[in-house]
Amino acid sequence: MNSLKDSFSRVIDYLRISITDKCNLRCIYCMPSEGVAPAEHTDILSYEEIIRVATIAAGLGVRKIRLTGGEPLVRKNLVFLVSELKKISGIEDLSLTTNGLLLAHHAASLAHAGLDRVNVSIDSLRPERFREITRGGDLDVVLKGLQAAEQAGLLPIKVNMVPVRGMNEDEILDFARITIDSDHQVRFIECMPTGSVNFWSPQKYMTTDEIKKIIETLGPLSPVRVRKNGPSKYYRLKGAKGVIGFISALTHHFCKDCNRLRLTSDGKLRPCLFSETEIDLRSALRSGASDEEIARLLRLSIEVKPKEHQLNGKGPVDAIVPDHSSLVTHHSKKRPMSRIGG
Ligand code: SAM
Ligand code: SF4
Repeated sequence: MNSLKDSFSRVIDYLRISITDKCNLRCIYCMPSEGVAPAEHTDILSYEEIIRVATIAAGLGVRKIRLTGGEPLVRKNLVFLVSELKKISGIEDLSLTTNGLLLAHHAASLAHAGLDRVNVSIDSLRPERFREITRGGDLDVVLKGLQAAEQAGLLPIKVNMVPVRGMNEDEILDFARITIDSDHQVRFIECMPTGSVNFWSPQKYMTTDEIKKIIETLGPLSPVRVRKNGPSKYYRLKGAKGVIGFISALTHHFCKDCNRLRLTSDGKLRPCLFSETEIDLRSALRSGASDEEIARLLRLSIEVKPKEHQLNGKGPVDAIVPDHSSLVTHHSKKRPMSRIGG
């Protein structure tokens, strides 16, 4: 079986595909209130193009695919994409990250089409606060989506929470307690200074260590090995059914365990979430590139995966890309998370 390794011996077997940059929410740490002007429809990869890239990637060694966005459930006929991706030989795990608003409508049909799991992002369990953070979201609808996902067997359900001081840090324990009686995985993600919003500040930012300390007031956290967990680290509260995960984008260099490549909704391959390098797969796809050429570009994006990101100012810049064609671009303009696919 093929496997892909980058220059730092990391096995790259995970492709995150953003299928749209549109979203039906405007979370305050992710998007400006007016939203981000969506790309032209023709600039977004078609499902056929996505399926082709995924098939070639699977041939190279990709085993896991996650669909994300923007909000992936706003894109029409997702069931078709899921069922086609599921048929690709070599893909062992197909999952989706969603804000959950449309999940109640789609969970059963997506599960039927072959979706394995969902991650649902919820930053508050208090309806009024949830509405404020998401600028208009209805918590009750999201919780119904979560229930529908559970009933449809999209398990284990992962709940993503971004703790921010002054926004929701007083709910960290409520989220951690979810794991006591349910087998959901609750993951705390360090807030990252990305995108087109001026939200992040050192005052609001909470480190994994801080978050962990708060949770440990409920009892000790024992490390748990979760198969192929990539950069997340998992723990369990004594006697709890579910586990608690931490994604420490800034503090505990999750880069050393990074196993992923990202494909943006407009068809750019990004070796790293914070990379300044992009490889223009869309132009290649639309100018008649052979499968071998697409495979070469996929391999190239893995070769140039940086050792670590530069958010804390210490990491090196991206590796020099050994390809001087116009398909490779370097840019310093930050893309919003909804454009890259978080
Ligand atoms: N709309 C879907 C959702 O919210 O789950 C998928 C896309 S969203 C960009 C994916 C994940 O990125 C969410 O869990 C969200 O909380 C997270 N995210 C967005 N901006 C972030 C930031 N600045 N720092 C940390 N996580 C962020
Ligand atoms: Fe939309 Fe997800 Fe960003 Fe919230 S975090 S604005 S739901 S893309």
